[in-house]
Amino acid sequence: MKQPNTLTRRKLLQLGTATAAALPIAHILITNPAQADDLPHLGSDNPTAVALGYVEDTTTVDKAANPRHEDTQMCSNCTLIQGNDGDEWRPCAIFPGTVVSANGWCKSWAPKA
Ligand code: SF4
Repeated sequence: MKQPNTLTRRKLLQLGTATAAALPIAHILITNPAQADDLPHLGSDNPTAVALGYVEDTTTVDKAANPRHEDTQMCSNCTLIQGNDGDEWRPCAIFPGTVVSANGWCKSWAPKA
């Protein structure tokens, strides 16, 4: 008779191993400056970007739709930004496989700790 708990535990271990193996690779792909330079800019047609109101220039944010937005809030000082300080285009944890403008903004903006 099959023991479902053993199978579940085995699958969890396999998933954990696969995830642990993939994380360093994902980190390298996201944070390696050479890779970041090769990534496409986040497009305004990206459905997640549209849903989060992403703009490449924080000063162009719709103030009526985002009353708590301030022009000092931008991707370069967001806790979700990745890559190198000072780069004009950088990876963001919300938009894998693309880079966002350092001067950009979206509704997920949160200050760096
Ligand atoms: Fe920019 Fe932060 Fe939004 Fe990413 S989550 S696009 S870094 S404001």
